[in-house]
Amino acid sequence: MKKILLIATGGTIASKPTERGLAPAISPEELLSYVPEIAEVCDVSSVEPFYLDSTDVCAEHWLAIARIIEENYQTFDGFVITHGTDTMAYTAAALSYLVRNSAKPVVLTGSQKSVYLRDTDARKNLADAFAFCADGEASGVHVVFDGNVILGTRAKKTRTRSYNAFASVDFPAIAILRDGKPFYYIREPKPQGAPLFSHALDGGVFVLKLIPGQRADIFDYLDEHCRALVVESFGSGGFPDYGDGALLSRLQRFLGAGKTAVFTTQVEREGSALDNYEVGRRLRAMGRVLEARSMTLEATVAKLMWLLPFAGERLEELFYTPVMYDIL
Ligand code: ASP
Repeated sequence: MKKILLIATGGTIASKPTERGLAPAISPEELLSYVPEIAEVCDVSSVEPFYLDSTDVCAEHWLAIARIIEENYQTFDGFVITHGTDTMAYTAAALSYLVRNSAKPVVLTGSQKSVYLRDTDARKNLADAFAFCADGEASGVHVVFDGNVILGTRAKKTRTRSYNAFASVDFPAIAILRDGKPFYYIREPKPQGAPLFSHALDGGVFVLKLIPGQRADIFDYLDEHCRALVVESFGSGGFPDYGDGALLSRLQRFLGAGKTAVFTTQVEREGSALDNYEVGRRLRAMGRVLEARSMTLEATVAKLMWLLPFAGERLEELFYTPVMYDIL
C-alpha cells in the first residue's frame, strides 16, 4: 500500500461552529475517521503544522508546507494537504514553484461544508484526494475538488457556496474522479531526477486592481514598499493616461528604480494581450514591463514571490519560462 502523509492545515473541512463563528477544530485523526475507505487504499500518517482559516495563510505557511514535504519526501509516496478553500489556489500555485520536478503527488483539497455535516462535500473530496494521490500515475502539485483534478498553477476559486467551487482557468482539468478512480484527460510526463525545493519567497509583491479614475498617489506607497507590482488592468491590458499622464509617469519612475510591473487582466478568461492597444503597447518602452498572458493572478503573484529572491537580471526570462503549464 502507498504511504501518504496528510498535512492538515485547517479550513472549513476541519471546522466546527464556535461562539465566534466557524473555526478549524477537527483533528486530522477525526477528519480521517469520517472517511474509513481511505484506509483501504493507502497507509496514512498525519501532521498539523498550523490550523487556520486559510484567510490567515500566507507565504510563511507555504514555506512551512514545502519544508514538511522536503523533509518527508523519501519516507512517503505522496502528500495530501487539507486546506481552506479561500486561499487554496494561492497555496497550490506557491507549492508548484517551491516543490518542482516532483515525481510524487502533492494534492490539495478542502470543502465548502465541514466534514461532520451529513450533506457535506468534504468526505468525497477527501476520498478523491487520497485516491488520486495513491494512483501510480499522479505526480506534481494539483487541487482535487468536486471530482476534478486541476493543476496547482491553474486552479481558481470561482464560487463561494457551490460544491463546484474551483475552476481550471484557461487549461483543461487533468483528470476526473469517478467512484474513486481517476480518468485522465491529460497524461503529464513523470518528472525524472530529483525534486527541486526552494526555501525563500519575497513578500514585496503588490496587486493593484484598477478602477476607473485610479489616483496616481498610490505610488507614494508602492515606491516605498513594493519590488514587483501586478496591475490587474482592464480587458487586454493597459494603463490609463487620464489626460494628465500622472499615473504613467509614476509608473515610469517606479520602473526606473529597477522594479518590475506585470500586467494582467480583470477579465476571468483568456488572459492579457498588452500589445493589442495603444494603452498597452505604450508601456513597452518604459522598463521592465511584463504581462501575465494566460497565467492566473494566483500563479502570477506566487511566481514573482518565488523569483524575486534569486532571479536578478534573469527575472524576465524566468517569469516567461513555463512551470507546470502556468504560462502558455
Ligand atoms: N474560510 C474558509 C477557509 O478558507 C473557507 C473554506 O475552507 O471553504 O479557511
